[in-house]
Amino acid sequence: MKLLITGGAGYIGSHTCVELLEAGYELVVIDNLSNSKRASLDRVMEITGQRLTFVEGDIRDTSSMTSLLKAHSFEAVIHFAGLKAVGESSRLPVNYYDHNVGGTISLLKAMQAAEVYTLIFSSSATVYGDPETVPITESAPLSATNPYGWSKLMVEQVLSDLQASDDRWSVTLLRYFNPVGAHQSGLIGEDPNGIPNNLLPYISQVAIGKLSHLRVFGDDYPTLDGTGVRDYIHVVDLALGHLAALKRNVHRPGRHVYNLGTGKGYSVLEMRAAFEQAAERPIPYEVVARRPGDIAACWADPSLAMQELSWSAVRGLEDMTIDGWRWQSRSPNGYED
Ligand code: NAD
Ligand code: UDP
Repeated sequence: MKLLITGGAGYIGSHTCVELLEAGYELVVIDNLSNSKRASLDRVMEITGQRLTFVEGDIRDTSSMTSLLKAHSFEAVIHFAGLKAVGESSRLPVNYYDHNVGGTISLLKAMQAAEVYTLIFSSSATVYGDPETVPITESAPLSATNPYGWSKLMVEQVLSDLQASDDRWSVTLLRYFNPVGAHQSGLIGEDPNGIPNNLLPYISQVAIGKLSHLRVFGDDYPTLDGTGVRDYIHVVDLALGHLAALKRNVHRPGRHVYNLGTGKGYSVLEMRAAFEQAAERPIPYEVVARRPGDIAACWADPSLAMQELSWSAVRGLEDMTIDGWRWQSRSPNGYED
């Protein structure tokens, strides 16, 4: 079965490509390499011993996307491509709507032209805004507090309307919680540009000595130790969630929505302590003011994915931190090494 993977050179996309190739799928990846390196796909091929086809291109280019989709017989598209930095999205909202919303609409036009009607979309737990209760189920109220979050909600709406208008479509919205860690080979992992915004990449760079200390954004939240609590999920478990969703929903018309999380939350200080153990070195920190827009606690109720997809996350905190550290320590400069 042949698949088109948009944004497949990125962090989650590359890990998903490994699992898909190992499961026997044939892959074409399109990526404009704006936030990734071609080397990630070379590593994917090295890990799996299988080949994939890479096309450097932009999903907003509808005519090239249409030609690409028509040139192959794809059964489905897994759509990772997009911009993802929350802070940057407030500074550059038009860019975010252009890539995330405009890019998706361009992809959908090309899929319609080529008559490919199965799509799996990378959504996010950010669509739950500041949740009233945890754990969060898929039926919780949706909202957004920044342009990135709005772009995900808008795409969910576009896809839902499309599916409601044409029953040939199978649309799967995967709401990721906090992906962390790396493939256990240590050959692929997260390779952020500049100073990382997210907790785990930041901690890793403190551990490797690139950054002096972690700044903990607030210790006065109503959580066990006052620091923010999130549902961290190993990126390989997340990748396997795509396989499970694909197997069940390919050519199954409908709108399918799943939380992909572990169902368990950890605080910032718990993550710091776990990483300290994995890396066997101190991670100094200081507590600073809350980060604007942050919420206290967010973790998933992942039971729907278990029921419908027979999928659940099986890798624990130790796997997340040990695998993350293996990647960071092998490649302090990411794919440049
Ligand atoms: P990433 O930046 O590593 O991967 C995204 C890829 O898309 C990159 O390789 C980038 O070069 C490519 N890209 C961006 N705009 C493009 C365009 N217009 N045309 C073609 N390629 C384009 O990010 P990731 O962490 O792998 O995230 C993948 C998806 O999952 C994104 O849609 C993101 O919003 C979503 N998501 C990520 C997280 C997270 O914490 N990493 C959480 C929830 C949802
Ligand atoms: N965080 C922190 N210092 C950092 C980065 C993040 O204390 O340098 C905290 C943040 O306030 C939140 C948690 O770590 O409570 C996870 O943040 P991240 O940006 O990784 O994910 P998100 O906020 O998008 O869930």
